[in-house]
Amino acid sequence: MAHDKVSQEFGSLLFTDADMQERLPRPTYKKLRSVILDGKPLDLDIANEVAHAMKEWALEKGATHFTHWFQPLTGITSEKHDSFMTPQGNGTILMSFSGKELVQGEPDASSFPSGGLRATFEARGYTVWDPASPTFIKDEVLCIPTAFISYTGEALDKRTPLLRSQVALEKQAKRVLALFGQKPSRVVTNIGPEQEYFLIKEEDFEQRPDLILCGRTLFGCEPSKGQELDEHYFGAIRPTVNNFMKELDDELWKLGIPAKTKHNEVAPCQHELAPVFEQGTLAIDNNLLTMEKLKLLATHHGLACLEHEKPFEYVNGSGKHDNWSLSADDENLLEPGDKPGENLRFLVFLACLVAAVDSHADLLRMSVASAGNDHRLGANEAPPAIVSVFLGAALSVIVDDLITGSDVHGAKRTRMDLGVPTLPAVLRDNTDRNRTSPFAFTGNKFEFRMCGSKQNLSDPNVILNTIVAEQCDRFASDLSNASEKNFTKEALKWVIDTFKAHERILFEGNGYSGDWEKLAEERGLPNLRTTPEALPAMIAPENIELFERYGVLSQAEAQARYVAKAEQYTKILNIEARTMLYMARHMYLPALFTYSSDVASSVAAKQAIGIKSAAETEIVEKLTAGIDEIYAATNSLDEINTTAHQMKNKPQEQCEYYCNKVLPAMARLRSAVDSMELICGHDWWPVPSYNKMLFYV
Ligand code: ADP
Ligand code: MG
Repeated sequence: MAHDKVSQEFGSLLFTDADMQERLPRPTYKKLRSVILDGKPLDLDIANEVAHAMKEWALEKGATHFTHWFQPLTGITSEKHDSFMTPQGNGTILMSFSGKELVQGEPDASSFPSGGLRATFEARGYTVWDPASPTFIKDEVLCIPTAFISYTGEALDKRTPLLRSQVALEKQAKRVLALFGQKPSRVVTNIGPEQEYFLIKEEDFEQRPDLILCGRTLFGCEPSKGQELDEHYFGAIRPTVNNFMKELDDELWKLGIPAKTKHNEVAPCQHELAPVFEQGTLAIDNNLLTMEKLKLLATHHGLACLEHEKPFEYVNGSGKHDNWSLSADDENLLEPGDKPGENLRFLVFLACLVAAVDSHADLLRMSVASAGNDHRLGANEAPPAIVSVFLGAALSVIVDDLITGSDVHGAKRTRMDLGVPTLPAVLRDNTDRNRTSPFAFTGNKFEFRMCGSKQNLSDPNVILNTIVAEQCDRFASDLSNASEKNFTKEALKWVIDTFKAHERILFEGNGYSGDWEKLAEERGLPNLRTTPEALPAMIAPENIELFERYGVLSQAEAQARYVAKAEQYTKILNIEARTMLYMARHMYLPALFTYSSDVASSVAAKQAIGIKSAAETEIVEKLTAGIDEIYAATNSLDEINTTAHQMKNKPQEQCEYYCNKVLPAMARLRSAVDSMELICGHDWWPVPSYNKMLFYV
């Protein structure tokens, strides 16, 4: 056994498979494994034994409570702590935990968003243990990952559809593999989420209601310096930040989260953390835990962690790259491989992905739509709002050859057989880093780069899994009657036809350029610039049919998710608008009254002794005009936002109104305030400036 600190502590707060094996009687352990691996039903006897073992382990680790840990539609995680303590009626207690308590919980569902699935009179909801996800201890609480469903069995959370989409993809991918003579026991997705975030001084954070209430600055003039010197990216990490990162690593490692890479990002104060990839559900759980720890631990170091997609104008925002691959019993199906016989299989999966993204670009775009992410997508710093696929030079050549080949069955076959074995070596060195592509092949995985930093990655992965399942299904069905002799030929033809049919989604150029926008339009690719434009894809009839076909979401569940997303968008913008009004009326205007009156007093004092000050007089005039404009913009925003807020039961119209009317009114107010920040005295300005927040950490 290793004796270094990291090896010893890694996973010490995680109830691992090894712990279960050690603590459970052999037959119980085996039954539990068959529940996890083969989906066998769980009987209460087993649950009781597992609960007992978990509790004993948790008590040894100092835990006092347990909780069902779940992911309501807010996207964050929820928990309610119950103590293991059970009074015995004679002044003593027992620490107990039953199988029933492990398996099922009953939180009041009425206080979570449900998109109308569950009215308050039928508030009952259940949390149900997901035995495939390990339990862990957080702050002396045993956390049990659970799904959250309504009384009538509809999903009220982010985990349930993710699990369903994984089941659908596994089933269809196994059908594809069977045609290649493979019978893996498991096919799973792997996810490596790269998390970006900002760190600023807590004392600055505390002085800004916009950061506290909205997670982003709603005001602030351009800093004197931005990211133009490119000196922050990969720069030396400052001591305070470094201490924070060390504590974070320690805490994450204890939870068994394989935090691996940390570095400074492009914008000042911006950083990134990437773990080693893991199985999909686990990777997403661990990303949510990481986000929670980022926020909490920052405060130990006098820092505030900002996870919003766009905390500051004028510098880059934050994203979360969803590195995604598919593997069959630990073999990566997106690895180009070096055995010729396996390359056809690789090309089939590659074609499936390309077709999936092209057929459902609207759904992928929808899955990352939020008020926060609207500031990134299409704003020349993150991927554009247009979805396209980047394959890299080496693969593009092969795909081009396949598409343009005149004699597919002759010459191209030969080229395939001869050319492909050399592919891997070339590929590894040659997948150039096109940072502008929203969906890029990077060696042996795809990287979906449109996700927002604050987002729960379940949504995009539900879509990804479902649309790839559809294409695997298509391949398996199309090829089901191919004779063994003709299989290779027909499979290759399928690959070529698929690339031909979906060629328009392939783009190797600069995704930020205006030319691409035009070209994409000519190709008929959707360009959904804002959340209100993107959300309706969730309930388009053909998309609902897709969700239902693969058992991922019912019509009612899809509709509810659409409503919940629309509500979240309008609620966030309403809070932002109100925060702006609050800051303008209670902070900026009073500060400007004081400052302008101080300068005016100086003008008057000088005049009294016969000195004329043109500069001061001009400044007072500018301040007065600025105050008038802020006042007018404030009243206008108030009125428009009130109208927006009162729109009821029309989610689409309300989103559009917020987007087209409230956002411009917010921009007007911001511009009025920011132009006054440029001339107001530093000591009079009520909040820390961009110069201060971004560079004095
Ligand atoms: P980048 O070039 O984008 O920095 P890295 O190789 O550092 O890429 O990986 C970024 C993330 O992708 C990490 O979380 C890593 O574990 C993950 N990753 C690597 N291989 C795979 C894979 N086969 N499937 C899913 N994620 C992967
Ligand atoms: Mg990356």
